[in-house]
Amino acid sequence: MKVLVINAGSSSLKYQLYDMRDESVLASGRVERIGMDSSIVTHEPPGKPEVRSVSEILEHTTAVRRVIDMLVDPNVGVIANMNEIDAVGHRVVHGGEAFKQSVIVTPEVKLEIKKLFDLAPLHNPAHMMGILAVEANLPEVPQTVVFDTAFHQTMPRESYLYPIPMVLYRRHKVRRYGFHGTSHAYVSAQAASFLKQPLESLKLITCHIGNGASCTAIKDGKSFDTSMGMTPLEGLMMGTRSGDLDPAVVPFVMNKEDLSVSEVNSMLNKHSGLQAISGLSSDMREITEAIGEGDKNAKLAFDMYTYRVRKYIGAYAAAMNGVDTIVFTAGVGENSSVLRKAVCEGLTFLGLELDEERNNARSKEVRFITKDTSRVKVLVVPTNEELLIARDTYALVNEQSEASL
Ligand code: AMP
Repeated sequence: MKVLVINAGSSSLKYQLYDMRDESVLASGRVERIGMDSSIVTHEPPGKPEVRSVSEILEHTTAVRRVIDMLVDPNVGVIANMNEIDAVGHRVVHGGEAFKQSVIVTPEVKLEIKKLFDLAPLHNPAHMMGILAVEANLPEVPQTVVFDTAFHQTMPRESYLYPIPMVLYRRHKVRRYGFHGTSHAYVSAQAASFLKQPLESLKLITCHIGNGASCTAIKDGKSFDTSMGMTPLEGLMMGTRSGDLDPAVVPFVMNKEDLSVSEVNSMLNKHSGLQAISGLSSDMREITEAIGEGDKNAKLAFDMYTYRVRKYIGAYAAAMNGVDTIVFTAGVGENSSVLRKAVCEGLTFLGLELDEERNNARSKEVRFITKDTSRVKVLVVPTNEELLIARDTYALVNEQSEASL
């Protein structure tokens, strides 16, 4: 079975085509600047040079058409015709309380996703455009949706409710949902298989530290708490997001600076975090380089960032009454040995002994970065959200075809 994985944004669309016989990636790529006259399609067939084409792509249906054209192209394509695409899996950011797992797209599912537009106004409408665009191009092909929030639907009420009037939860579903669920689910399963222990027997803290960042406490194989909330703004300090702050700061700043709701939202989501404190960049590579050159603001940004990761790990160890294994993943978590060292150095009280050599080693494989004697183990696990979407899609479509026999 060949599964096309799609992550549709408002002006972009990323894709990967998987052959599920061996879970290999046949091709990947992206369409950027959808809605503009110079949209760019970048297609990457493995082992061959990247192909770029610039044309006018005004909406998502044309974007999906162009992706299919690339995939079946006699020179750069990887399949003979579009009938070889057996299923399409979409990443959807917000599944609210309606979706506790991945599902096949039906008219009812589309209706539910639409109802969630309010909770994820920047993401869910774009995902819906992706679903409709695939429907228009491949009307017979089953589609699935895999939600960033679904993994966290196991959180207990004490984790997910905010201590504000309950009427706001009842009326508007104001609560914590958590995000990066596909990544936390994937790396926790990878960690358990690496440790050769059942996931249900472990107390895990997974740290997805990329441009966006979140920590999750996983107990009995389920998400017990996670640092992102109703939106991805809560929790850790991130590249451009503030993470946790006193909610009273918001009305205070709005009042003093005469900011609108959308301006304050933009300040907290796009102009805060590493970017704001360093005054330099949201990219951890540049922050680390600047620290090497003696930049004090970059150092402060780094210290605040790592301090907050450590605080969450400490809090989640307490929340679960212990922790066996901590996992680092995503762009910063997988690649920045300095970040991992800074976080782990303050966790010796847990019985964590970092192994410097293991931490500094470069690898794309799952690996320990603690000493063999360390009571709490720390792993680096490369994440792969697309593969999990492809796996869920494969399983759901197989289930459906078996049920219809
Ligand atoms: P992600 O959101 O998971 O794609 O992560 C992207 C972020 O990872 C970038 O913004 C960088 O800050 C960070 N990153 C990638 N490579 C490195 C590296 N070698 N060292 C430190 N940070 C890195």
